[in-house]
Amino acid sequence: MAVILDLLFPPKCAFCGRLLERPGDVCGACEGSLPFREEEAALTAIGENRYAVVIALYYDGMVREGIRALKFGKKSWRAKVFARYVAQAAAERLGGAFDAVTYVPVSLRRNFERGFDQARLLAEETAKIWGVKAEPSLRKVRHTRAQSSLTDPSLRAENVKAAYRVLRPDRVRGRRFLLIDDVCTTGSTLSAAADALMEGGAAGVVCAVLAGGRRKVEESGNQIP
Ligand SMILES: [Zn+2]
Repeated sequence: MAVILDLLFPPKCAFCGRLLERPGDVCGACEGSLPFREEEAALTAIGENRYAVVIALYYDGMVREGIRALKFGKKSWRAKVFARYVAQAAAERLGGAFDAVTYVPVSLRRNFERGFDQARLLAEETAKIWGVKAEPSLRKVRHTRAQSSLTDPSLRAENVKAAYRVLRPDRVRGRRFLLIDDVCTTGSTLSAAADALMEGGAAGVVCAVLAGGRRKVEESGNQIP
């Protein structure tokens, strides 16, 4: 059965989309050059409440391509691959800081347009690695403009402010959450979602994101390879 499926759906690299010659889900070229965020850049703090955020990879090159394919390709197998990086980064740097896994939801309207919610998929696959279930704990209470359409950080913060509410306060109160999202740019979306969890009575929130930021630019102006 697996052989037949492989013929119908030949294995592709989750990042660059190239067909793979051998079984797997990431090609050798991507595997060898993934832009992992170095030690000091992996853990950062966002928002007025300084939530700890671990970011696994830089949002560069093949990572950007892979996430775009995840968003628009409607293929959930990629989420399973990307979840490995989220799980590893969160376990290394935030282990012991949370006892529940959740995600930043998209609005019902966007979910309907897109057919699925990529942060939810990522959280579900990450939680699965740890043998637990990702819990829906937030809902988006108003439709916001796409953050990518806004460049000014203060406008981005304003755009998502108070956009989230907890679904069930009894499932949030007193618990410490790992909040997962796919991409982090200024951190305002994560921060707004984390604030909603804290306002809903959570005992703590830490965040894990698949990708964010760009690699440092060398003095010559070239990107570090
Ligand atoms: Zn590749």
